Amino acid sequence: MRCQRCAQEQFVKAGRDRAGRQIYQCEACRRWQTDRSTSAFRGYRFSDDIIALAVRWYLRFRLPYADIAELLAERGAHVDVCWLLRASVQR
Ligand SMILES: [Zn+2]
Repeated sequence: MRCQRCAQEQFVKAGRDRAGRQIYQCEACRRWQTDRSTSAFRGYRFSDDIIALAVRWYLRFRLPYADIAELLAERGAHVDVCWLLRASVQR
């Protein structure tokens, strides 16, 4: 992992965020980040895999949001259809 601000690679553990992910603090600039800080899907509560799967289904099969939410629910990710709408509009 590399710091997004100063590009150093030395971190110390600095607790956990609300989702339970490990927080690391850069020893040089003191910036905090998690393993997910560099992800294109940071800020969303679902894992990158779930989001990528939903996007793939939507783009490849042109499924309606309600069907995608139902398929994700079968895989244990309970997604609100409104969340899918907001996520697709924001990105
Ligand atoms: Zn840094």
